[in-house]
Amino acid sequence: MTHEHDITCQNIIENLNAYIDGELDKALYAEIEAHIQSCPDCRIVVNTLKKTIELCKNADSEASLPVETRHRLFAKLNLEDYDKKD
Ligand SMILES: [Zn+2]
Repeated sequence: MTHEHDITCQNIIENLNAYIDGELDKALYAEIEAHIQSCPDCRIVVNTLKKTIELCKNADSEASLPVETRHRLFAKLNLEDYDKKD
């Protein structure tokens, strides 16, 4: 076990968040990329995680809608709702 640069699936899992966030140093990033390209299992894990993160980012951008904008939106929706009732 003298191969320090021998990336295993375990290493991929441990560094997955940093890898996705682009927080790894270039050498490790390149090694993980190489492993993912040769390992279908890790490729599936990475792709799944990337999709999940994209969904989270979308949800996050909705949540970070300025409060004022949200109030206006809700006010407008409420008014339209009352209009329909009357
Ligand atoms: Zn793997």
